[in-house]
Amino acid sequence: MREYKLVVLGSGGVGKSALTVQFVQGIFVEKYDPTIEDSYRKQVEVDCQQCMLEILDTAGTVPMILVGNKCDLEDERVVGKEQGQNLARQWCNCAFLESSAKSKINVNEVIYSSVFISLWK
Ligand code: GDP
Ligand code: MG
Repeated sequence: MREYKLVVLGSGGVGKSALTVQFVQGIFVEKYDPTIEDSYRKQVEVDCQQCMLEILDTAGTVPMILVGNKCDLEDERVVGKEQGQNLARQWCNCAFLESSAKSKINVNEVIYSSVFISLWK
């Protein structure tokens, strides 16, 4: 069965959890608990095909960084650096980093900048 992973993002209080729980369990959650973060699974039929949805209901606006990994493979580059920077600006006005797990490039930067961005927000 095909699996789809969905992530629900948005500001606190806009109704992410209520929408998710209404879809998965068919009930409306009146109580607002901004700290709840949970994942839900639901099997649905789309176009006569059974598929499994895994929905991650997040606690709010996850600070985002767009990361282009495998930057050690310069010869096989498909997305230009500038293209990545433009995408990051277009999508979420977020930071863009290129990294390589193999060559240990920007590994710490990717993780720590996410934490710093959370602290500023
Ligand atoms: P989240 O922080 O985005 O997960 O927001 P919640 O799903 O917890 O919803 C915040 C509040 O808005 C709760 O008190 C909900 O009952 C309420 N709420 C969510 N969706 C709707 C909706 O479609 N209509 C109304 N009237 N209230 C809603
Ligand atoms: Mg919520």
